[in-house]
Amino acid sequence: MKGLKTFSRGGIHPHGRKNLTNKKEIVTADIPETLIVPMAQHLGAPAEVVVAAGDEIKEGMLIGKPAGFISAAVHSPVSGTVKEITDVYLANGMKSSAVVIEKEEGFIPAEKTKSDSWKSKTPQELIEIVKDSGVVGLGGATFPANVKYMVPKGEKAEYLIINAVECEPYLSADHRLMLEKASELIEGLRIISKMVEPEKVAIGIEINKPDAIEIMRKQAEAENFDLEVVPLKLKYPQGDEKQLIKAVTGREVPSGGLPIAVGCVVSNVGTVNAVYEAVALGKPLYERTVSVTGLGVKNPGNFLTRVGTPISSLLEACGGIIDNPAKVVVGGPMMGFSIYDLDTPVTKGTSGILILTDEESGSGSRTACLSCGRCVSVCPMGLNPTKMFKFVDHDDYDSAMQNNLMDCKECGCCAYACPANIPLVQGMRLGKKMARKKKVS
Ligand code: SF4
Ligand code: SF4
Repeated sequence: MKGLKTFSRGGIHPHGRKNLTNKKEIVTADIPETLIVPMAQHLGAPAEVVVAAGDEIKEGMLIGKPAGFISAAVHSPVSGTVKEITDVYLANGMKSSAVVIEKEEGFIPAEKTKSDSWKSKTPQELIEIVKDSGVVGLGGATFPANVKYMVPKGEKAEYLIINAVECEPYLSADHRLMLEKASELIEGLRIISKMVEPEKVAIGIEINKPDAIEIMRKQAEAENFDLEVVPLKLKYPQGDEKQLIKAVTGREVPSGGLPIAVGCVVSNVGTVNAVYEAVALGKPLYERTVSVTGLGVKNPGNFLTRVGTPISSLLEACGGIIDNPAKVVVGGPMMGFSIYDLDTPVTKGTSGILILTDEESGSGSRTACLSCGRCVSVCPMGLNPTKMFKFVDHDDYDSAMQNNLMDCKECGCCAYACPANIPLVQGMRLGKKMARKKKVS
């Protein structure tokens, strides 16, 4: 469709497969008997455990306190007993301490009642509630939301942009949230607007969600909330903050800069819902919607899932796995992580779990670089992936950094486009890790 907004540089059009789940209503997943709640569920320092083995705890109780400015609180997803404090591996391969909780017998989740008392609170008081509720960005970055909503002195948020792009193939949890919770989202936007004080509020939605575009427009109008609904052309990775800002406002965030440098604050639609629940319902962030999908799972769907639920338990809710899947991925197929242990727990950042067959995972064998330049033309950050990969491959992290390795968003466009099946993204991830370790600047 002509005339739709999008970002200008690079990008790809991967196959969606959103039809596996986007017509399915969000279903509340069964809560398992044992939950494993990691302390490293957000960007920044892991939370510090504040409970001990044997403690009786209640649903929503603080079990991990923030360990710094960029950190987030962690709350118990159920009432029960702390069985042990242990170490677990997360989907991204990182090790984290975790609180293992045995759910109490006959546990019934608390009913939450909506309150308007937030309307009399100051912006700073609202930011404190968001902080105390452990709200982080649910689009994947898991940046503490309270930090994002604190606009630095001397800066002004002209735009509050809601990221409802969900451009990763397969995922549809954000889409369903808009269809099923439009009113709650509008109230969440009012709350965030009180904290951020933007001049304009816009929501970017890709054109493959026409029902969400319509419902958000109608709901905003019905509730007299000034919301600009921006339909966007389909293009990956439009859900990245920088690409979304470019698409909606035409502004370019400078290399190494934050959105506020161009007058923008961006929040994911799932985060808006989490803010609503924290502030209007008094409910900390201990559950989220997860798309469980792929041709390798019997009944794909969207599930409201307690943090700490082992992935194996969610797969049971979907009727189990078909034959031998080629891959289990946490997150989307472009930026997610393959996992090998199905007891890996769901965390605040788990947007999807994909059970992919051989046909879907499409892994071919690697050949030598063909110097075709496709990776360069699709890179939304204007980088030269093949060049950087070669530097990393030769342990030359200085040169990789000089070629702006840290600007890489790990979006996977380069690897997707590469006919030689070169693991370009893995190379970028490794390069960044090694450069940090060796403190190359
Ligand atoms: S993964 Fe990095 S290098 Fe590759 S296309 Fe995305 S931003 Fe560019
Ligand atoms: S797309 Fe692959 S084959 Fe082509 S230049 Fe880049 S790394 Fe080489």
